[in-house]
Amino acid sequence: MAQDLLKLSKVTFRYPDNPWKLDQCSLSLKAGEIKAIIGPNGSGKSTLLKLAAHVIKPGSGTIFLDGREITTISNRQRARVLGYLPQHVQTHLDYTVGEVVSMGRFARLRGAGFLDAGDLAIVEKCLEQTRTSHLKDRSFSNLSGGERQRVVLASVLAQEPRVLLLDEPTSAMDMHHEVSFFHLLTGLVREGMAVGVVTHDLNIASVFAHALTLMHDGVIVEEGPPKQIITAKVLREAYGPGIEVVEHPTMDTPMVFPSPKESMGSRENS
Ligand code: ADP
Ligand code: MG
Repeated sequence: MAQDLLKLSKVTFRYPDNPWKLDQCSLSLKAGEIKAIIGPNGSGKSTLLKLAAHVIKPGSGTIFLDGREITTISNRQRARVLGYLPQHVQTHLDYTVGEVVSMGRFARLRGAGFLDAGDLAIVEKCLEQTRTSHLKDRSFSNLSGGERQRVVLASVLAQEPRVLLLDEPTSAMDMHHEVSFFHLLTGLVREGMAVGVVTHDLNIASVFAHALTLMHDGVIVEEGPPKQIITAKVLREAYGPGIEVVEHPTMDTPMVFPSPKESMGSRENS
């Protein structure tokens, strides 16, 4: 049984001046696993990821990173284990792409704090992995949304984390780049990484994720393999009507389609 690299246990959180709460959420990410976190707008996906990344602190509950309580780990040490890509990244950074990716090495620097040949080689590798080498000298702020998302992933990968938390990392990507991105994640988890990724693309989640965590109104309502979560019944309960589920034409996995009717649709599919 693979080890839990990240474990949230009964985590509860409230924003100041907002009655909404994230309630008793438990989540674990294992080495070798892509877990997709799905759910309607405002269900708490980004809040859960921010808690997991220690960007915000829970009101109650505990979070363990690589077997240690996350509050006992220094920021620098945490950045060597955990890479977090937030939903909204600052876009007006006055840096080149190469510089943005190099910043990912900061948590790893020793001695005088300069990037050595080994660091630069890792930066190059991360640019190649995310197919952004040709953008290296471009200004980050002038990139398209999808290019920017690939560069930010390169920067997070340059940390060489063992746990990756990605919040809608492909929301601005065309289908080819989105599929490439998830192929890259598949390769990374095969090498032992643990990935938690928030996405609204249920079909991508169904094809690439080992498990799906479905959130609704601040709680985790269900978790399991794609076949258990991507059903018309489960999805309509969380998202509402307008969703049809069928089989992928060449894979043994469910696919989601929009229903032309507002009503419950023709195919119950469990
Ligand atoms: P999701 O990522 O699933 O769309 P979020 O986790 O961003 O949802 O938000 C969950 C709820 O918390 C929403 O009702 C949202 O309006 C609220 N919320 C998010 N961020 C803040 C904040 N900084 N202050 C107050 N409320 C917030
Ligand atoms: Mg969000």
